[in-house]
Amino acid sequence: MNMNVEDQLSRPLRDLRISIMDKCNFRCTYCMPKEIFGKDYVFMKEEELLTFGEIVQTANQFAALGVNKLRITGGEPLLRKNVEELIQELNQIEGIDDIALTTNGVMLPKLAKSLKEAGLKRVNVSLDALDTTVFQEMSGRATKADVVLRGIDAALEAGLGVKVNMVVKRGLNEQEVVPMAKYCKDRGVMLRFIEFMDVGQTNGWGYSKVVSKKELHTLVSEIGPLQPVDHYYFGEVASRYQYEGSDVQVGFISSVTETFCGTCTRARLSADGKVFTCLFSESGTDLKEDLRAGQSDAFIKEKIKTIWENRSDRYSELRTAESSKNRKKIEMSYIGG
Ligand code: SAM
Ligand code: SF4
Ligand code: SF4
Repeated sequence: MNMNVEDQLSRPLRDLRISIMDKCNFRCTYCMPKEIFGKDYVFMKEEELLTFGEIVQTANQFAALGVNKLRITGGEPLLRKNVEELIQELNQIEGIDDIALTTNGVMLPKLAKSLKEAGLKRVNVSLDALDTTVFQEMSGRATKADVVLRGIDAALEAGLGVKVNMVVKRGLNEQEVVPMAKYCKDRGVMLRFIEFMDVGQTNGWGYSKVVSKKELHTLVSEIGPLQPVDHYYFGEVASRYQYEGSDVQVGFISSVTETFCGTCTRARLSADGKVFTCLFSESGTDLKEDLRAGQSDAFIKEKIKTIWENRSDRYSELRTAESSKNRKKIEMSYIGG
């Protein structure tokens, strides 16, 4: 029987984001800027990554504590070999009714079909611009946006649910907001705008570079009036709107200007087996050593339970320009977005 645990602020544990790979084939300016994550950056060694067996064992214990949704992320999760096998195994876990994956989309033309067959329900594809120059500037690579668009098409063809995520950074891609919204509306796909966040230590974040939900909403309303839609479930991060006269929705993840820590039910497992209770954590609690020492499931479960029960994070509610600078936050690519 699965149980429920609550943290210090009475928030249940419901979601687990599993980073399966810290490496990435992109160098997005807001996540892994190439000047910093260049040749000298040390990524995890193969043996440091949790094996699929270890990930499944851990996810089982999270499920036993009330987690019903899993999201596979990274780094770029589709760079991990045989990721379909992992999805298939995670899909067998009792209590898990939703498995999604966040990707930059480059590998989707090759993998969408087999991911769907393995039991994946949905993908969130990150795409910050349609214009080639802007896209390349955002992603730090020469790949063209067309490759990601083909990835989106492949996911739709395979029958996967598709949402597109767009991070908007002032001075870089605001001019792409309306073209992206039109493109997604025409494809019948939900586009979610993500406010640029101060994750990690390297992305040069400042309030002046955040394009707020309010501004984004005004820009998108150029296409047509937007009607608010009720939240689907407790802890949903996006506020959603529907274009008048259409069933296509658009969402806003306003992690900076309208925070949602009060309903945050998400835990994160890094690729090397550490549990983090907040995207802005400075440190995590290691499980890999316990897993490799052959500790029992009951031990792992109790350890996770204690971590969650001690949790009181609400970084976004407390964020100031000062706190953003002074805190030694873990990089997004490591902790899993
Ligand atoms: N590589 C995959 C991708 O890009 O979709 C998965 C990992 S990525 C870290 C997960 C999500 O975090 C992406 O949608 C990305 O745009 C978002 N992200 C990364 N850095 C961010 C930042 N500083 N502010 C807001 N969102 C960010
Ligand atoms: Fe890679 Fe995703 Fe980070 Fe971009 S946002 S650098 S695709 S992990
Ligand atoms: Fe959750 Fe931390 Fe983000 Fe608040 S800041 S919503 S607690 S991950």
